[in-house]
Amino acid sequence: MQKRTQHAIVVGAGFAGLLAARVLSERYDRVTLVERDRIETGTAHRSGVPQAHHPHALLARGAQVLEGLFPGLRAELGEAGAVVADVGSEFMSRAPRGWAPRDEIGLLVQSVTRITLEQAVRRRVLALPQVSIVDGVQVDELVTSGDRVVGVSGRHRATKTSFEAHADLVVVASGRTSRLVDWLKAIDVHCPPRMEVDGHLAYTSRLYHVNDALNFDWVTIYEITHAPETKRGGAVSTVDGRRWFVTLFGAGGDVAPTDEAGFIEYAGTLECREVADVVKNAEPASPIYRFANLGSSWNRFDKVRNWPRGLIALGDTVCTMNPVYGHGMTLAALGADILRRTLDKQRFERRFQRRLARVVGVPWLTATVTDLGWSDEKLSLPVRLQLWYGRRLFDVVPGNAHVYRRFIRVSQMVDHPATLFHPSVVATVVRGLFSR
Ligand SMILES: Cc1cc2nc3c(=O)[nH]c(=O)nc-3n(C[C@H](O)[C@H](O)[C@H](O)COP(=O)(O)OP(=O)(O)OC[C@H]3O[C@@H](n4cnc5c(N)ncnc54)[C@H](O)[C@@H]3O)c2cc1C
Repeated sequence: MQKRTQHAIVVGAGFAGLLAARVLSERYDRVTLVERDRIETGTAHRSGVPQAHHPHALLARGAQVLEGLFPGLRAELGEAGAVVADVGSEFMSRAPRGWAPRDEIGLLVQSVTRITLEQAVRRRVLALPQVSIVDGVQVDELVTSGDRVVGVSGRHRATKTSFEAHADLVVVASGRTSRLVDWLKAIDVHCPPRMEVDGHLAYTSRLYHVNDALNFDWVTIYEITHAPETKRGGAVSTVDGRRWFVTLFGAGGDVAPTDEAGFIEYAGTLECREVADVVKNAEPASPIYRFANLGSSWNRFDKVRNWPRGLIALGDTVCTMNPVYGHGMTLAALGADILRRTLDKQRFERRFQRRLARVVGVPWLTATVTDLGWSDEKLSLPVRLQLWYGRRLFDVVPGNAHVYRRFIRVSQMVDHPATLFHPSVVATVVRGLFSR
């Protein structure tokens, strides 16, 4: 394979941007990350990633890809205090009709704050000799030559002076607030309307110091929302720094308050009593933060016929998902993996966007069909059938380790959702109908 002696720019040094830079360093002589925030050393929170105030579960599939890109990362995170756990035996999950079985599934995830995870990945990426970062620069436009993107322009935020850089490839990974659709419009490239599904979900989260007196025997415990009857959910995950990350999920507009008394009261309404135990008995380690409007949206860049050469988009710039299912970082990792496999192809840019869309399509369906359950509009027959099957599946999860195992492998993106239609699962669901 011939190595190119070229330059790549990555807009955004968030999760997707860092992984893209890691992959590009194998093919490009120079990779420049251009980031709006100032990147401090240490574990400081930064405004460009407000979601870091909320728990970030990295799915088993994402953890596998990450370990491939950064061998030894899991152990390194473990040394930094991350809790490595089996998603079956060390997680407790509540379905509407009871607790899921607690058996070892053989899938390991690392429970860690988003800040610690990003810092570990960033340290690895910036240690690569090909990679450098220009921080404090907001990109505002693409620079083109003919039908090719050849760079970006913007401004230094502190000095308000202009910034322009040229490259053979520009990767846009500027996250959920990305303006890429507008940048494309400015160069006469028009995208189809963004697909959107809104479950009217909000997260309200706070960190606590672990209180050993509570003597819990799990790493993570959670109860998620289920349309249409369960609007409230919550989770506690044990993360680095001997802390518990508590989140209260409010779907269908039933949002948890951000004041102390309201937060405790809301936690007390959950079936999962442990959430209330933590918020009442553990010492807070952060303020309470809310993140609302957590709908799913998908920019169909794969359908743009005149997609420019020299340009790639990945991560939340392409698709943001309802975070309850924890798809986001795993999709960013899978995007980097596809980039690695398409970079050497001729005219890889459109090919990359199409391949990425195929990978996005599966979790998109899972997440959005469930959220359509909150909709007041009349749903199509296929959606109603999927919702019906999903609910019946949850009904049989308590007390059925086989179905739960399959469900977890799908939700951790290790297996395809089609495995939930295996005859053995369908038979259990049908038996469940008669036993209710
Ligand atoms: C409340 C919440 C909870 C979540 N929980 C999970 C979870 O449990 N599991 C999971 O996998 N995912 C979760 N996600 C999703 C996850 O945060 C994203 O999928 C992931 O961060 C996507 O990475 P990204 O690099 O595309 O965007 P980001 O990580 O947001 O990074 C974007 C970067 O681009 C920079 N930037 C933006 N605009 C510009 C510009 N014009 N010029 C230069 N730089 C720019 C920003 O400063 C930032 O550094 C959650 C999201 C939210 C909102």
